[in-house]
Amino acid sequence: MISVIVPAHNEEESIDFFLPAITPVMEKITKDYEIIFINDGSNDKTANKLRELEKKNSYVRFLDFTRNFGKDAAISAGLDHCKGNLAVIIDADLEHPPETILEFYEKLQDPNVYQATGIRSGTSQSFLKKILRKVFHSSMKKYSSINFPPNATDFCMIRREVIDTINSMKEKERFIRGLLSWHGYKTEYVDFEVGKRSAGTSSFSASAITNYARKGFISFSTTPLKIWIGLGGLIALISFAYISYVILKHLFIGTDVPGFVTVVCMIGFFGGINLIVLGVIGEYIAELFKEAKGRPLYIIKK
Ligand code: UDP
Ligand code: MG
Repeated sequence: MISVIVPAHNEEESIDFFLPAITPVMEKITKDYEIIFINDGSNDKTANKLRELEKKNSYVRFLDFTRNFGKDAAISAGLDHCKGNLAVIIDADLEHPPETILEFYEKLQDPNVYQATGIRSGTSQSFLKKILRKVFHSSMKKYSSINFPPNATDFCMIRREVIDTINSMKEKERFIRGLLSWHGYKTEYVDFEVGKRSAGTSSFSASAITNYARKGFISFSTTPLKIWIGLGGLIALISFAYISYVILKHLFIGTDVPGFVTVVCMIGFFGGINLIVLGVIGEYIAELFKEAKGRPLYIIKK
């Protein structure tokens, strides 16, 4: 069986376009498939629409969140509940073209390949989103333990081994794209042209993306905690040299060193650095706090 996992947040109009587009593609591969929609706390009629669809269409399953838990939680719920030995993760708005699933399936005919991931091209996104994406990818590549190609998406097809591996990861702050690379199973990449959003608007503003990227980076990198060691060492060294110079000058030449303005500037500068470092440590403590509470990743109504 193949499970298609579709997170949906305010997609009441897109669903009408999505189902007729995905059905023929799945039928080409197999009749043994399920489409799991996860309503991620939509404010529109997405839930009603999906409930109706589940009644009418025997291939459709519907998970209804109590509120918005985020796209990664929605995908996680789909992975937890899917029955397939293969799963597809795909957006509801047709920006991920369903035909690409055929190419994913082709790649997975090789028994050594466990995952086929879509690489986006020709993105219709705003300049700001493109820049944010670039900065995020290059810093992930440089400073984190995982490495995925630029423009890799969470549009993919994965084997049961990968589904089970991701389900076994209990972290609450889930960055699915990172987890899909971290597992280390052999992955093939497939280029796809980003489709036009079928209806509605994107749920991710530039600030939401920045926030998302920050969390993703923090869950896969400890570099922000470590860079201060180098900087602290350098500053300590310079200070030591300067103090030695001041003491020697005082002993041998005997002049007082004036420096009220210098001292005030130094206190301000190092006060600032201290606060930045505390903020960075705070980010990690906040993540630890969230994990320690052990609240569920999502809550399903029924
Ligand atoms: N989505 C979700 N929960 C959210 C935000 C988005 O399930 O809090 C879903 C959304 O319905 C869509 C997919 O995630 O199927 C991608 O979201 P969107 O198209 O809004 O983002 P973009 O494509 O602009 O990155
Ligand atoms: Mg989209």
